Amino acid sequence: MHKWVYMFTEGDATMRNLLGGKGANLSEMVNIGLPVPQGFVVTTEACTQYYSDGEVINEEIQEQIMEAIGKLEEVSGKKFGDKGDPLLVAIRSGSRASMPGMMDTVLNLGLNDEVVEVLAEKSGNPRWAWDCYRRFIQMYSDVVMEVGKKYFEELIDEVKEEKGVVADEDLTADDFKRLAQLFKAEYKGKVGEDFPADPRVQLMGSVKAVFRSWNNRRANIYRRDHDIPHHWGTAVNVQEMVFGNLGESSGSGVAFSRNPSTGEDKLYGEYLTNCQGEDVVAGIRTPNKMELMAEDPLLKDAFDEFNVISKRLENHYKDMQDMEFTIENQKLFILQTRSGKRTAQAALKIACDLVDEGMIDEERAVSMIEPRNLDTLLHPQFDAVALAAATPIGRALPASPGAASGKIVFTAEDAKEWEAKGEVVILVRMETSPEDIEGMKAAKGILTVRGGMTSHAAVVARGMGKCCVSGCTEIVMDEAGKKFTLGGVVYKEGDVISLDGSTGNIYAGSMPTVEAEITGELARIMEWADKFRTMKVRTNADSPEDARKARELGAEGIGLCRTEHMFFEADRIDAFREMICADTEEERKAALDKILPMQQADFEGIYEALEGEPVTIRFLDPPLHEFVPTEEADIKKLAEAQGKTADQIKAIIDSLHEFNPMLGHRGCRLVVTYPEIAVMQTRAVIRAAIKVQADRPEWKVVPEIMIPLTGEVKEFVFVKNIVVETADAEIKAAGSSLEYMVGTMIEIPRACLTADVIAKEADFFSFGTNDLTQMTYGLSRDDAGKFMEAYYDTNIYDNDPFVKLDQVGVGKLIEMTVSLAKPANPGIKIGICGEHGGDPSSVEFCNGLGFDYVSCSPFRVPIARLAAAQAAINSKEDGNKIIHG
Ligand code: ADP
Ligand code: MG
Ligand code: MG
Repeated sequence: MHKWVYMFTEGDATMRNLLGGKGANLSEMVNIGLPVPQGFVVTTEACTQYYSDGEVINEEIQEQIMEAIGKLEEVSGKKFGDKGDPLLVAIRSGSRASMPGMMDTVLNLGLNDEVVEVLAEKSGNPRWAWDCYRRFIQMYSDVVMEVGKKYFEELIDEVKEEKGVVADEDLTADDFKRLAQLFKAEYKGKVGEDFPADPRVQLMGSVKAVFRSWNNRRANIYRRDHDIPHHWGTAVNVQEMVFGNLGESSGSGVAFSRNPSTGEDKLYGEYLTNCQGEDVVAGIRTPNKMELMAEDPLLKDAFDEFNVISKRLENHYKDMQDMEFTIENQKLFILQTRSGKRTAQAALKIACDLVDEGMIDEERAVSMIEPRNLDTLLHPQFDAVALAAATPIGRALPASPGAASGKIVFTAEDAKEWEAKGEVVILVRMETSPEDIEGMKAAKGILTVRGGMTSHAAVVARGMGKCCVSGCTEIVMDEAGKKFTLGGVVYKEGDVISLDGSTGNIYAGSMPTVEAEITGELARIMEWADKFRTMKVRTNADSPEDARKARELGAEGIGLCRTEHMFFEADRIDAFREMICADTEEERKAALDKILPMQQADFEGIYEALEGEPVTIRFLDPPLHEFVPTEEADIKKLAEAQGKTADQIKAIIDSLHEFNPMLGHRGCRLVVTYPEIAVMQTRAVIRAAIKVQADRPEWKVVPEIMIPLTGEVKEFVFVKNIVVETADAEIKAAGSSLEYMVGTMIEIPRACLTADVIAKEADFFSFGTNDLTQMTYGLSRDDAGKFMEAYYDTNIYDNDPFVKLDQVGVGKLIEMTVSLAKPANPGIKIGICGEHGGDPSSVEFCNGLGFDYVSCSPFRVPIARLAAAQAAINSKEDGNKIIHG
């Protein structure tokens, strides 16, 4: 019989894949003797089984769950539904990677009309008993039966209004009793049957709901953004309840062992007295800072104990911990621990501090920084001068760093819509909930009225690397009227504000931003990363400015310099259009002659910026019709320049029309029809290289000429012959000894299939994974956006294959190419220059295949350096393998 259920005492931290992160860590904490309420875990395998059984929990799993309940009853001495000592449990989700707020929790399960009376009586605290009951009905209805939370919140508001009170704290036992009755009636109205009284029915319903929540929309979006595959599934934790809502000597909170924003080595957390845990993160009441707990005589002992446990857990896991706790009548319970999510700054500081404290080594420090997290640091901050001159209109919590200026919107839907129209928006909300996740993604920054540093908005924004300021309680919100008042001024939808997520300041209007630099702890970590890395990191750059920026960020050359962008510039597009619309070879050559010196100057600039580091220059790639004029005035201008009529030009333009331009007249096919284009580009490259080499003899300039879109060796050889003939003539004429290379992009599946033959002719291969993905899937990148949502919703695709390399299909082609090419040409250099070159998991894949380099956009260079280092560390037998999250 398969084992689907593990008591906490049977598990440990290494069993994360099976028990989920929460379950594995609860087990570990039980085993090291920390005060954790007992319970058990229904495994992630049971979740996968639930889906393959057609969304039912099979008999065997149900039996094992009930058996575990029996054991829990034994150790706790309480019984499900008992009239003497009833057992209440929490039902908690928890997958392998942490997904805060994405799935559901049900607390106080086991209550019914009879049990609640028992509790009220025995505890002498009827208010507590009825509070638990109404919470349970509310959560069960929401999570299990999907009756919206809002109906219950409305009922609470009605009761408060009747009583003339504003806070939940002012509600009495009788009020909660009434609410419980109203809630049950609401349940019956919405669901059509009575609220289930049998704890066993409640339990199975809740376990099933957690499994189901693995597949809810917000969880799916979160997984896609965080590279978490659908097949992992979630575990379900069933745990005895402890109560933070028993009065002022009870409470609940969340704390980090170090500051998750700055990394400072000081306990950082928030708590509320007389509440259950979800109140702290939900932003209903603004929580207290953890320090206040030390001053509360009722809670001081628990606070001291918590500090000790916090350090102990940090030492145990060798990382900063994010812990959830509850205090029941002064007794502390730990309900969760995990490696804490943190800002990029904090991640760097913590990693460096842990090395300096001797807790970890450099290799582990490099492994524990999540590469994509660096994004925030590589993004702009507000200009210091502008910042000093500006006066904030308000200040709240610096929940997630970064700088953002944009137009105010008030709903997640508006954020999405406005962003789609090309607007930059700031999403302003009372508080955010998981349903807002798409709107948060669309926004440049997020501002909330309620909620602390551990609120949903803050946690999710930090995860996204998105600027967020939270808990600005001075804002008077008018969500319906799409406006808010702050400092006596009204801000309406569409007004521009600026947020500084590093200070929590809010400004009116927009503010200039400045680029980030690699200094301090980032520099230290990058230096360590470079020690472990074996693969080079280059950049995709078309201009000397981009190239310089990328080199500052650590790029070791250019892996892709596109030449078509150079033709779009105002001073040369005319000449280029003349070339396209030429009728004869002479006309075409005349136009190309005008372009040659400009193109040569471009390349000189790039070689100078690179100071002898390698540069791969790709010859003209896009279909020619992308360059032709569309404006009447431009057409006339071109006609005049060529002594033609506007109609003649229009006829030429029409003749360039293609039904399938991505599969049309582009790449090396352009050279097969117009060899003079390659002649001109070769001259420009070689002349530029000779000139820069002569000026700077201390550098070694070796041009790498890359032919795009090869599918057949003969077309590659045809173009290569033109390049070689032209280059050799230039070199000879200059009396130079310049060396150069000719290679090709690998972006057509046929090139992969015939890689052994092509490799004999090419000095290097560079995978153009954008086109390769497009052609392997037969999926147009420019059109896919219209229907891909349906593929995510149905879980046909976990990720966008244009963002995350498809290692199964496209990856197989890449693997095959490498294994065909290397034996045919052992000296061949291999790299990647598609968007995927900066994606951490794709970098790891390339490292595994022995690539010489990856090439990515300039600001992703540090991410690729770190990812390459982690890939090298992971590939070692005893490497520091870290699962992020
Ligand atoms: P999430 O993954 O969204 O954080 P959790 O399973 O951690 O969800 O549950 C949310 C909150 O519910 C916890 O932070 C805690 O305060 C409360 N909670 C969970 N389990 C228990 C329990 N056994 N007793 C009391 N409160 C609990
Ligand atoms: Mg939790
Ligand atoms: Mg391409």
